[in-house]
Amino acid sequence: MNNSIIPTPKSRFLRVKCKCQNEQVIFGNASTEIKCVVCGEVLAEPTGGRTKILTQILEVLE
Ligand SMILES: [Zn+2]
Repeated sequence: MNNSIIPTPKSRFLRVKCKCQNEQVIFGNASTEIKCVVCGEVLAEPTGGRTKILTQILEVLE
């Protein structure tokens, strides 16, 4: 059984909120670390093709 729950289109953006309260739109399939532009906290990191979000996701933009 193919257990693909969420299709991951290449152009998917996420609106996230850092713990410093900065809201930032990031690319959902980033191949590099994404850091908060305000405090430098790592918001997302690549994990073998998918992006692991390390902060609060406010909205998924497609
Ligand atoms: Zn921040």
